[in-house]
Amino acid sequence: MTAEIINGKDLAQEIRMGMKEEVTQLKERGISPHLTVVLVGDNPASRSYVKGKEKAAAEVGISSSVIELPADTSEKALLDRIHTLNEDENVDGILVQLPLPKHISEQKVIETINPAKDVDGFHPVNIGRMMIGEDTFLPCTPYGILTMLQSRDITIEGKHAVVIGRSNIVGKPVGQLLLNENATVTYCHSRTPDLREVTSKADILVVAIGKPNVITAEDIKDGAVVIDVGINRLETGKLTGDVDFDGTKEKASFITPVPKGVGPMTIAMLLKNTIKAARGLEPLE
Ligand code: NDP
Repeated sequence: MTAEIINGKDLAQEIRMGMKEEVTQLKERGISPHLTVVLVGDNPASRSYVKGKEKAAAEVGISSSVIELPADTSEKALLDRIHTLNEDENVDGILVQLPLPKHISEQKVIETINPAKDVDGFHPVNIGRMMIGEDTFLPCTPYGILTMLQSRDITIEGKHAVVIGRSNIVGKPVGQLLLNENATVTYCHSRTPDLREVTSKADILVVAIGKPNVITAEDIKDGAVVIDVGINRLETGKLTGDVDFDGTKEKASFITPVPKGVGPMTIAMLLKNTIKAARGLEPLE
């Protein structure tokens, strides 16, 4: 079997086209979504992610602004800035680009953002809402993964989904979303003694480790759906995922590549969340 490739770049482009129309209609009703990105310091990777977000936002008609702060900005100054953005009626979505300099608590920053403007979906209130199945901002990468599966009508209900990785931004929430869709979910991590024993039983395997080629064809079941979240830069400069793509694609039914996989979907979902923020979340009962 040779797997069908789920191209996230093409799918994200398609989704952006749909959002462009949606934004035009919103503007006719006087709603102009605006995203504010806060960038602290001059990490080149962060800067390039922020540029990608600005470009994608502009493409769908979402206005954006970037607040650049020096690396030695104090935690208090950053929190004050976020409070100001929380109060600003012209700002619908706030995203603070991570990682932050060591002297600033990321968790404090995340918890300071108004949950109604938390388009990254990292605030504990939004994570909680996701867990109990309420309307919320889903974290962008897990949301992108779910959208990729749904775009190919891949059945999730009743399937055994295995997630490798348990970070707060990818592993844990993607498992929760799959559970919400009625999959039976198993999490693996660095202390899982026999990874292959678990991965070889997965109908859907989500790999979010951050190390190249950890998963090979021998680790998967025939016909498995393989989602590779990892982004690793090899010494050659080439980008690669956590999965040995060439070998695994001969055994899987669907697979996502790196690049052109989950990455572009993450940005598309950020824009979806920004539109949702402009419209307003449904209040809790
Ligand atoms: P983290 O480093 O926070 O988490 C990695 C997880 O992998 C941890 O839970 C860790 O276990 C587990 N792990 C590490 N080594 C192994 C191993 N050998 N076997 C099994 N599990 C292992 O990373 P993130 O979740 O933030 O990101 C994961 C990858 O996804 C990275 O490459 C990142 O760049 C990429 N990424 C891609 C995005 C996209 O848009 N495509 C968005 C976000 C991230 P333990 O908890 O025990 O330490």
